[in-house]
Amino acid sequence: MSEPKNREEIEEKYKWKLSDIFPSDEAFESAFENVRKTAAEFASFEGKLASGAVTLKKALDELCEINENLLSVAAYACMHRDEDNEVSKYRAMADRVGDLESEVMEASSFLEPEIISAGKETVEKYMEECEELSEYRQFFHNLFREAEHILDEKSEKLLAATMPMGGASHDVFSAMNNADIRFGKIKGENGEEEELTHSRYGIFLESGNREVRKAAYEAMYAQYKGFKNTFAAMYAGSVKSDLFYAKTKKFPSTLLMKLSGSFIPESVYAKLVEDVNEGIDELSGYLELRKKILGVSGLCMYDLYVPIVPEDEGDIPYEEACAMVLKAVAPLGEAYVNDMRRAFSERWVDVFENRGKTSGAYSWGDNRNHPFVLMNYQGKIEDVFTLAHEMGHAMHSYYTNKTQPSVYRDYKIFVAEVASTVNENLLLEYLLRDAKGTRRAYLLGRKLEAIRTTFYRQTMFAEFEKKAHGAYSEGTPLTAETLCDMYGKVNKKYYGKVCECDENISYEWARIPHFYTSFYVYQYATGFAAATRIKELVLSDGKNADAYMEFLKSGSSDYPLNLLKSAGVDLEDGTAVRSVVNDMKTATDELKLLLDK
Ligand SMILES: [Zn+2]
Repeated sequence: MSEPKNREEIEEKYKWKLSDIFPSDEAFESAFENVRKTAAEFASFEGKLASGAVTLKKALDELCEINENLLSVAAYACMHRDEDNEVSKYRAMADRVGDLESEVMEASSFLEPEIISAGKETVEKYMEECEELSEYRQFFHNLFREAEHILDEKSEKLLAATMPMGGASHDVFSAMNNADIRFGKIKGENGEEEELTHSRYGIFLESGNREVRKAAYEAMYAQYKGFKNTFAAMYAGSVKSDLFYAKTKKFPSTLLMKLSGSFIPESVYAKLVEDVNEGIDELSGYLELRKKILGVSGLCMYDLYVPIVPEDEGDIPYEEACAMVLKAVAPLGEAYVNDMRRAFSERWVDVFENRGKTSGAYSWGDNRNHPFVLMNYQGKIEDVFTLAHEMGHAMHSYYTNKTQPSVYRDYKIFVAEVASTVNENLLLEYLLRDAKGTRRAYLLGRKLEAIRTTFYRQTMFAEFEKKAHGAYSEGTPLTAETLCDMYGKVNKKYYGKVCECDENISYEWARIPHFYTSFYVYQYATGFAAATRIKELVLSDGKNADAYMEFLKSGSSDYPLNLLKSAGVDLEDGTAVRSVVNDMKTATDELKLLLDK
């Protein structure tokens, strides 16, 4: 691979135009000072919020304004830093913004407790008196809902002081898992000894050489098995700490505490697991096909990640990638396509890699102008998918920012991946329309793997988490034995009809960092299901695109489930999950037919 260029060598049209936020560093500096000044002045509202509707409205408006300005300052500094992390000027700027964020947070920390102590009735009365204040209705609703779980001042203080201890299990896990644990060396593809690390594990498991996959798998799990009691104690510590906070905050369970943030009923979680369980045969169908294509007599757990159809080399010019994405999203309507075209031509995207640039891809920006997208575009078909994905986030932010008042511009994690996945799905369907031969087989293989890893696997994780937390709260101690038993059984349910589930895989719970942020991963599965259903709706009838466009404009103006309902997705009735399961079956059948030819 060639050396990355220096940033100056990249053509201007492939760089994002951050001067849309501030025309110069001087303008940034004066905005920075303004945030500091207005945040300090905001303190004058302390103790006065309950003095009347007009004051309350004024305080909320002002805080929103401060936060908007803070975001502009943060976006400008951090995105400049990401252009080239070796430039100390922007690194320092980004550090200063971090401090400014704490200043703003501190200066406004009285706001929520003061509104809560004013009481629901007072706020209701104020909203009647002052029409404009009801813009904040959803904000108040959410605040008073959460207030039910806020303790008296003394207890909250005590609880806050315990937080660093509460996070100790995760800290120990990270130290052990990222730094101290060693997996030794294995024989790589060219027969030479290579060190096994977390990031290389993924590469080894994708190796076409089965011996390499097997060696990596066994060496990896040998360590988790060797430290099984330590990992069990860490995870148990995390589960215990979660339950302590749940109980202290008057939640019946950890699950309910975690779901409460997005106002998701427990039934949605349970139904996801139940409905996905009913689609295990379709997963098995795909695994059977995988086994056949790989030509192995028994499909092992280390045979799951090797691509069944390799990606073609691909050298897609960036302009062509943009054209592909624009055509793919055409079913969303002319306005969406035109806005995205403008995003490409008006330099919202920072396209190519350069020395010092932040790796990966993301979408971010301030709320006043437009979002930006960071890419490290290499010309592969996967990069086109990344572009579609990040543009999905960008357009979601763009429409929300244009439509919603400041207070609702932040959307919840629960809906965040929907817009990006819809675009990926549309791109896939668009490419499948004309793709033939190996390209077609690759796309179908890609689709199947996305469903397996984002939908089935995350639901399997969700099922395990519920079992582990549930068992502990019912008095079962979480030991290496009980955890392996639980995980092994769940894994066997998903994979056991086709795969040879050896003993090693029952230690997988020990290496999943997400389990330390409990009940988080189910959102990957629900988001994926919602996006699949939306793709289906939009492609079946153009009129459905309007409802989806409304969803893109809605930010956090309502709770996630209601917002998705407005886009035509009801996560309580199982249709979205069935759409994914059907997709799994159709793609499996098609790939089978294609490869039989
Ligand atoms: Zn994303």
